[in-house]
Amino acid sequence: MSKKQFKAESKRLLDLMINSIYTNKEIFLREIISNASDAIDKLCYLSLTDDKVGLDRSDYKIDIIVDKEARTITVRDNGIGMTMEEAENNLGVIAKSGSFKFKDEMDKEQAGEDISIIGQFGVGFYSAFMVADKVTVISRKYGCDEGVKWESSGADGYTVTPCERENPGTDVIMHIKADTEEEIYGSYLEVWKLKALVKKYSDYVRWPIKMDIEHQERFENGETDDEGKPKYDYRMVTENETINSMVPIWQRSKSEVTDDDCIAFYKEKNHDRKDPCALIRVNAEGTVSYKAMLFVPGEENESAFLGDNKGGITLYSNGVMIMEKCDKLVHSYFDFVKGVVDSPDLSLNISREILQHDRQLKIIGQNLEKKIKGELEKLMRDDKPKYEEFFKNFGVHLKCGVCDEYGRYKDFLRDLLIFYTSEDSQITLKEYVENMPESQKCIYYASSDSLKHAMSLPQCDQVRSRGYEILYLTSPLDEMVLECLHDQDGKTFCNIVTDDLGFETEEEKKAAEERDLENKDILDFVKESLGDSVTKVRLSRKLSSLPCCLTTEGGVTLEMEKYFRHGPSEEMRSIRANRVLELNPEHKAYAALKAAYESDQEKAKTLSCILETMAEMMAGCDIEDPAAFVAQVSELF
Ligand code: ADP
Repeated sequence: MSKKQFKAESKRLLDLMINSIYTNKEIFLREIISNASDAIDKLCYLSLTDDKVGLDRSDYKIDIIVDKEARTITVRDNGIGMTMEEAENNLGVIAKSGSFKFKDEMDKEQAGEDISIIGQFGVGFYSAFMVADKVTVISRKYGCDEGVKWESSGADGYTVTPCERENPGTDVIMHIKADTEEEIYGSYLEVWKLKALVKKYSDYVRWPIKMDIEHQERFENGETDDEGKPKYDYRMVTENETINSMVPIWQRSKSEVTDDDCIAFYKEKNHDRKDPCALIRVNAEGTVSYKAMLFVPGEENESAFLGDNKGGITLYSNGVMIMEKCDKLVHSYFDFVKGVVDSPDLSLNISREILQHDRQLKIIGQNLEKKIKGELEKLMRDDKPKYEEFFKNFGVHLKCGVCDEYGRYKDFLRDLLIFYTSEDSQITLKEYVENMPESQKCIYYASSDSLKHAMSLPQCDQVRSRGYEILYLTSPLDEMVLECLHDQDGKTFCNIVTDDLGFETEEEKKAAEERDLENKDILDFVKESLGDSVTKVRLSRKLSSLPCCLTTEGGVTLEMEKYFRHGPSEEMRSIRANRVLELNPEHKAYAALKAAYESDQEKAKTLSCILETMAEMMAGCDIEDPAAFVAQVSELF
């Protein structure tokens, strides 16, 4: 019997499989099971119009049979089977239907890349060669009397011969490779391992996947103890069990499955004890059909950081897992969303155009993003405290999303952002603008590392006294977010510490400038007393009740400086803001400073230092020498 040669491109794929450039070998079982399931689909479909098939729906099954001694795994189905010609055409030629072509000049590195793409979508029958050095297929087509035996040990070709087979269906017998130093192929012969692989990849295949499973059983051994109670012994029994759960919860209609069922599913699947804060169920039919069940977790799962919780969205095609974490589906700003998407339009079939999958994924992803956003907006409307909790956990993802790719997604995300306007209220920018009185021109914000501190910044007084709200920013990211957003409904943002608040009239500005001039000597004196610790000393136009405050000039604010202090490089850590000490000319402290300047310059110097330290304290800066400050204050008694 002569060996037949594989077609050129099949041979190349086979080479890749055999040499296992693709590392995720375990998916071979998923591929073989999927083929078996498709074959059953076909026969089951045929039986609708052909009563001679003689099988009930409940008769169809896929058996996995392990023979450890012979080192074989057999996947057996009672599906449609193949004729000799089909076996040759289907198993000897890859990609007959497809536009998927291996690049001719494919070198090894490129091959690695291509293979990883393939791996996400299915590698088909040949994947068996990743774990087997010989594959035997014994099949009989429904309606034919004769069976066919197809056999191949890899790239050197295959044989096909007629053979006996009692019933229609197919056995794929994989002769598992010998163990090597890198890979213990023998582990695939372990029942627990196969069971785990079925659970992981093929749990929702529509037909039962059965396997002989051994377990311990207790039985009465016929003896009794002193009290006359029966005694027990244990024995190993083998039971033919169905190991997949078959009907995925997301495939079932809303009337069949309650939200509570979905939540229970989420908790089990993600090992999360907390209820998710939102559930999104989609049944889409149209350009692309898909079902989705997505969850917004109740909190960032700790184990996510430990790496054992992959999170993300799992992609299925008709109940067969294609990708465990599909990061292409939604943008990273929504990567906290977990769940499943199942679309029959995505195929495991290697022979389909891969780009086409991408386009379909894109459509699904875009639709899902709209749904997720809609659900979050609904949560914000209906249950604000819950939304605030969500935002505490995941707001940072949204904020990073705003800043990502030069603000490309800012308009999609802006309405999901909330900011504090007081200790117990957080609002969106839209709400802020809606609340603005007629006279207010811009959106005021104050930034610090804690809410309490931001609220107590001395510059707040003037803004609040006019009845204007202030956004209190508490994370270093927030300032960047506002910068990216640029404005809200045409209203720009104003940092109350560093920016001109726009409250002064032209006359007031002029008067202030004149006053600065009148006080020039004393301000110069204070600046000289303080040396380089401040860049400038001036009279404040923002303070009402407090004697002084610290503000900055230039691009670096005090908040940024604090942030950079923990930076990775010495250069970053040494970045300093240009500090400006502002003094309140209406305050009695200023009057005292002025009096001292005229009568006792030593005292005036001390007062300058005290004012500077007070301003630093209010700005939340670390006081370098508290003892010196105490000494200076003590002198005044
Ligand atoms: P595909 O992605 O088309 O399933 P495969 O390489 O996995 O590619 O399989 C090639 C073809 O071989 C299938 O399309 C099918 O026609 C046939 N085939 C594979 N396994 C079976 C089976 N168990 N029963 C019947 N036909 C099968």
